[in-house]
Amino acid sequence: MQSCRTALIYSPLFGNFNYGDDHPFKLQRNRLAFDLLDAYGLLELPNMQIRDCQPASDELLLSFHDSDYIARLKEFSSSEEPRADFMYGLGDAECPVFKGLYECAALGVGATFEAVRLVEEKTVDIAFNLTGGWHHAHRAKASGFSYLNDAVVAINWLVARGRRVLYLDIDAHHGDGVQEAYYDTDQVLTISLHESGIYFYPGTGFEDEAGEGRGKGYSVNVPLLAHTDDAIFMKAFDEVAYPLIAAFNPDIIITQIGADTFRTDPLTNLEITTHSYGEILSKIKRLKIPWVALGGGGYDLLNTARAWTLAWSIMNSVELNPRLPPAFIDKIVPLGYQNRVLLDAMHWADEGERELALAAVEKSIARIKKTIFPGIIGSYGAPS
Ligand SMILES: [Zn+2]
Repeated sequence: MQSCRTALIYSPLFGNFNYGDDHPFKLQRNRLAFDLLDAYGLLELPNMQIRDCQPASDELLLSFHDSDYIARLKEFSSSEEPRADFMYGLGDAECPVFKGLYECAALGVGATFEAVRLVEEKTVDIAFNLTGGWHHAHRAKASGFSYLNDAVVAINWLVARGRRVLYLDIDAHHGDGVQEAYYDTDQVLTISLHESGIYFYPGTGFEDEAGEGRGKGYSVNVPLLAHTDDAIFMKAFDEVAYPLIAAFNPDIIITQIGADTFRTDPLTNLEITTHSYGEILSKIKRLKIPWVALGGGGYDLLNTARAWTLAWSIMNSVELNPRLPPAFIDKIVPLGYQNRVLLDAMHWADEGERELALAAVEKSIARIKKTIFPGIIGSYGAPS
């Protein structure tokens, strides 16, 4: 896909919303990412376009979400007054009620829908929505900074058009909301690599969550221990995700590419760098499957800017100078950022910790090869 056509979905309206000054989810990270993309000249490439988006319609949202839940979101969204409804997960520290929250969430879904529509209608080969990837939203419950599940709404639209979809989630957190939506169908294969739920939000995503009924074998989880580093992360991708993607051979692949796996993220305990992140995205690109990427998590804002810039450069087959552009450094110095590089060297965790993480992932891989692979891949990878 040398001359592949790409679209970046962007709405300046996201800058109007704020989860709260103390909340770790900062929509201003989009601005920082845009500044870095601009500094590298990545907003003016020959085969790319920047597309605005509209809030998702009620009709689209109702393909997944509960109508009473939507009504409550709209009601809470319209006032500054502090409100809470814990049945719907609204009003706690994770999912605060703020003015415009419905408009913000519906715009995020609209952005992902636009990305998916452009790829489905073959206007572009790859589309990237920085703001999407709210993978924790449930049918009638907000959770983990997610109010509406953009990926599920967009995938439902594809499934209704008869498409086979693969959802790959490499965010630090388990893609629980998306898994749940497709737990009983074989039309969507969900694969999530994430920090283990033993001690970590959302507490799910173990290997034995493998789907049910027709969906048995179509939910795949690789839980990773704290201190999982680049080599271990790539091993999980290479030995589980990659062969399953190739064997399932979807019509379209949706990836949630959160950068909260990075070792300096304040909320998580993995030790990933741009090294394995870039390797994985390059391998996905080489598969030449129509591809939609969603930004996902990332609570060190410079990391999200670096990660998404790298992702966009890979989607467009552009090699970047590993040192950040001087104009961008001038912007981030006053913000207190020390980092001067786009690309990190491959990182290895401390020996004792990495031995534990490696042993755990090897066990998970062996288990998945035994339980999942025979159904999707046939004899390949089956236990001897
Ligand atoms: Zn996350």
